[in-house]
Amino acid sequence: MSLLNKNLENGAGPRSLRKTKSTKDVADFSKVGGLNNHLKTLREVIIFPLLHGNVFSHFRIKAPRGVLFYGPPGTGKTLVAGALAAEINREGIGKVSFFQRKGADILDKWVGESEKNLRNLFDKATKNRPAIIFFDELDGLAPIRSEKNDHIHSSVVATLLALMDGLDNKPGVIVIGATNRIEAIDPALRRPGRFDKELYFPLPGVEARKEIIQVHTNMWKNKPSPKFVVQLSELTAGFCGSDIQALCSEAVLCCMRRLYPRIESKGFKVKIEADTLKVCILSSFLIGD
Ligand code: ADP
Repeated sequence: MSLLNKNLENGAGPRSLRKTKSTKDVADFSKVGGLNNHLKTLREVIIFPLLHGNVFSHFRIKAPRGVLFYGPPGTGKTLVAGALAAEINREGIGKVSFFQRKGADILDKWVGESEKNLRNLFDKATKNRPAIIFFDELDGLAPIRSEKNDHIHSSVVATLLALMDGLDNKPGVIVIGATNRIEAIDPALRRPGRFDKELYFPLPGVEARKEIIQVHTNMWKNKPSPKFVVQLSELTAGFCGSDIQALCSEAVLCCMRRLYPRIESKGFKVKIEADTLKVCILSSFLIGD
């Protein structure tokens, strides 16, 4: 897997401690299950323009500046944004800088500071092109402007609009917003030229759940059998991707408790051989442990 460089930032907010993401933590598209159409679309609208910028400029086609991810929590929006950065690196376009912010973390109680935070973020991304700015919980940053809404929000939304419009002559900076409440986002942001593309992340269907289970169990030495994976995907209707991830983690814990019942007793130290653990349907899902 190609690696995100030291430019890859994962700060919760402008003042928060910014950490360089460990390269081991970075997922690429192979770690995303059940969203093949989304990944294909992102390849076309984000990776192609970066790879083949000459074609776009020759035909005077504008690549999208922003993509909006929306849908229920835990359906892979943040995962896909991070994986996209890793995938761009794999293509050898150059090391992409990934700036992740939670919408509300940009906001500051001092007048003008939130706008300044936004401008600094865009400046930094422009200097480190190619770059992706990822706003998680965009609705917290750019809610619908109304008379009831305070002046600060309106000014922040206006600044964000201006900054996104300014990206016209700065190819290589892509803004991704994610939200669970698309109806709460200021409609001006959803006009062409801003968040040009909207991608809905639904709760996964049975096939998608199967792929997600595979993503989370593929690296296990004793992988669940294909039949088990199919059964499990049928039994997990209504689960989102993060529920499935939690289920897989819980299954391993159940397995440990089953094989090493004394593991939780105080002071009992035991070395567990990972190879001896095998998750099966009775122990992990139907009856628990
Ligand atoms: P969202 O941003 O939509 O709330 P996340 O992307 O943060 O959800 O998902 C949380 C975790 O759930 C991910 O880190 C990943 O482990 C798992 N997950 C969610 N969707 C998927 C998916 N489609 N494929 C694989 N894992 C997934």
